[in-house]
Amino acid sequence: MIHYTCDRCNCELTPNEDLRYSVQVEIKAVFDTPTDFVEDVDTDHLLELNEILERLGDDESDAIGEDVYQRRRYDLCSGCFRQYQKNPLGREHSLSFGFSAN
Ligand SMILES: [Zn+2]
Repeated sequence: MIHYTCDRCNCELTPNEDLRYSVQVEIKAVFDTPTDFVEDVDTDHLLELNEILERLGDDESDAIGEDVYQRRRYDLCSGCFRQYQKNPLGREHSLSFGFSAN
């Protein structure tokens, strides 16, 4: 039997009992290239990305590669999903509290 745990609060998620949210995050470094220089901007970005990843491959540390491209998947319980949904970028709350306090 497969067991899942929430990646945020580490609570155990029981299949068929607890709702489980799967959050997939893809982070890419984007290199802005002048559009008149490139025919297909999206393709060019991907090619550049691949070249950089290949170049980084052997002699550079993994940490630099993660600055360029990351794909993560998280399992969240319903409570943590609601928190994540409210604040997916992990922003500080102080600013919005300041506004609502008025
Ligand atoms: Zn949780």
